[in-house]
Amino acid sequence: MDYNLNKIAGAIPPSGIRKLFDIVTEMEDVISLGVGEPDFDTPWRIREEGIYSLEKGKTIYTSNAGLVELREAVCNYYERRFDLSYDYATQSLITVGGSEGLDIALRALINPGDEILIAEPCFVSYQPCCALAGGVPVSIPLKEENEFRITPEEIEEKITDKTKAIMISFPTNPTGAVMRKEHLEAIAEVILKHDLIVISDEIYAELTYGDKHVSIASLPNMKERTIIVNGFSKAYAMTGWRMGYVLGPPEIIALMTKIHQFAIMCAPSISQYAALEAANNCDDDVEMMRNAYNQRRRLMVDGFRKMGLDCFEPEGAFYIFPSIKKTGLTSNEFATELLLDQKVAVVPGEAFGECGQGFIRCCYAYSVEELKVAIERIGIFVAKKLAEQK
Ligand code: PMP
Repeated sequence: MDYNLNKIAGAIPPSGIRKLFDIVTEMEDVISLGVGEPDFDTPWRIREEGIYSLEKGKTIYTSNAGLVELREAVCNYYERRFDLSYDYATQSLITVGGSEGLDIALRALINPGDEILIAEPCFVSYQPCCALAGGVPVSIPLKEENEFRITPEEIEEKITDKTKAIMISFPTNPTGAVMRKEHLEAIAEVILKHDLIVISDEIYAELTYGDKHVSIASLPNMKERTIIVNGFSKAYAMTGWRMGYVLGPPEIIALMTKIHQFAIMCAPSISQYAALEAANNCDDDVEMMRNAYNQRRRLMVDGFRKMGLDCFEPEGAFYIFPSIKKTGLTSNEFATELLLDQKVAVVPGEAFGECGQGFIRCCYAYSVEELKVAIERIGIFVAKKLAEQK
C-alpha cells in the first residue's frame, strides 16, 4: 500500500549514532563511550520525592505549563546561578526534556521557508526538528582552530533575508566547547544587527570546568530575543525522568505553551515533583558529579594526546572530540574498525554535522576504570593505524 507518508520526515537520514549501536548490542565485552548520559544514579533525595509523589497519589495532570512551584523554582534557579530573572507566570514552561523545548521553540518560531542558522557540530535533533517544523536548516560549520566557538563573521556569512533565528548550544555536545562572555558579546552584536532570535540550548550549563556558564540572554538587549532551553537530564542525572524547561519572552512562551498543550498536555507529574527537589536542594550533588567528570576529562585529554592524536581540550559537557585525521581513516571507518578490532564504541564526528568529519565523540560519563581500559584499547588501535601510515 502506498501510505504517501510525510516527505520531510521520510527524507531525514537515520541518526548516525544508531547504526553503530545496533552492532554493539550484538557484541560482548564492549566498552561503550557512545551514549551521552550520566553514569550516576539520580541523587537519592530526588528519587525519594518521586516516590513520595506516587505514594501521595499525585498522579494526575498538572497545569499545561507545569507546576507553579516548579516554574518558580526554575526561575529562582536561573536567578541564583546565572543572574537572569524571569517571571514564572509568563516566561517559563515545563517541557518533556530539553528535547521537547527545542522542538516546540522551532515550531513556534518558523513560518514555512524561514532559515534557521545551526552552529555545527551539534546535537542530532536540531536539523531534523527544524526541517519538520517547515524551516530550512542552514549549517554554520565551527572550526577546531577557533576552539569550536562561533564567530560573528561565520554568522554574517550565512545571513539572508530569510534568516529568522540561530541555534547555539554552549557547552556543546559533541565538542565540549564553551563561549565566554567576550565571545558571546561579539556574536550578540551581529544577532542584534540582523534582528535574529536565539535558541540557546543550555542543557550543559552546570557542567563547565573553568569559568561559570554565561547565558547569552544575560547580555544587554538579548533577553527579549532569546529562548533558553534547559533541563534536568544532564546536571542531575535524570535522563529517564524526561524533565526540561524553557525560559523566554512572554509572547513566545505563550505560543509554545499552546503547542505544548495540544501535543503533550503536560510534562509527567511525578517527574515534576522530583525535579522540584533537584532545582531547590541539589547544588551539592551537581558539584560532586561535576568534580568527578572533571577528573575523567583530564584523564581523557591526557590519554588521547599521549597516543599522538590532536585533541582539543573540552571545557564543558562530558564529551571529548579528538581529531583522528592522522590515522588516515574517516570517522566512520575509525569508529567501525575500532569497534570490531578493540571493542570500544565511539561515535563518528559526522553524526553531528558534516564538519565533524575527521573527529570522533567519546562520552566520558563512565567510571574511571572503564575509561582507563577504553583509553588503553583505543591506544593499541591508534598505534597500529599510525604505524600503517608510515
Ligand atoms: N540538547 C543537547 C545539546 C543534548 O545533548 C541533549 C541530550 N543528549 C538534549 C538537548 C536533550 O536532552 P533531554 O531531552 O534529555 O533534556
